[in-house]
Amino acid sequence: MSINTWPGGHRHAMSQSEHGRWNAANYPGTRQLCSNCGKPTGRCEDDTLWDEETEEPLCEDCYKEQANGGESC
Ligand SMILES: [Zn+2]
Repeated sequence: MSINTWPGGHRHAMSQSEHGRWNAANYPGTRQLCSNCGKPTGRCEDDTLWDEETEEPLCEDCYKEQANGGESC
């Protein structure tokens, strides 16, 4: 008997993006992970920093980088 928490049980069928989104939606607020670097964001749902393009949670560092344009200059 296995613990199956994956939608439809088809873990391998999820794309990287869907996987990240699913994790973000299912993590308790206190265990939210940055979708860019994978570190805990240290934030909960109410003050989450969201990636505007992918709508996934970001840590402060990654959010600042994105806010600075995200392009090398
Ligand atoms: Zn990050």
